[in-house]
Amino acid sequence: MSNPYQTCSICKAPPEVLAAVNEALRKREKFRDLAARTVFSRATLHRHSKKCLQRAALAEHKARALNPRSGRMVVQWPTGALSLYGNKPIRPEDLLRDDFLFVVEYENIDAAAVGNPRGLSPTPENINRLHDLAIIEDAERTAAKLDGIPAGPSSDSNPVA
Ligand SMILES: [Zn+2]
Repeated sequence: MSNPYQTCSICKAPPEVLAAVNEALRKREKFRDLAARTVFSRATLHRHSKKCLQRAALAEHKARALNPRSGRMVVQWPTGALSLYGNKPIRPEDLLRDDFLFVVEYENIDAAAVGNPRGLSPTPENINRLHDLAIIEDAERTAAKLDGIPAGPSSDSNPVA
């Protein structure tokens, strides 16, 4: 396997040395302390930490994020409950590293803005809003009759729009 970080003396070091340095950096050992007990300078350790390690972590994350073979499809419902595809519930602690998480959120939609109000879920808020809309529509229809305007097809359209 070719090493893409040819210019870095830490990356070019034997694998066990590289692994030990990376482990120390992940544990946030100070560059000064690490430089004191290795042959690498603080500047080299710093550059390796900022460039090489981040690049490696990104590459690892990218490879991991696009692994449909091992990842399961998990849905997170607005209640916070999790379920696997097929609606089998799982606990948050059962989530695996490669799982895909689909977060479902309900949008707060004004009933008057919905093309098919009957498609709204019958929450108390939606029912109240639809009731208000019906009263407004009825008042407009009554007013139109009093004005001698025949109630045409336009009276069926959304009175708020
Ligand atoms: Zn490096």
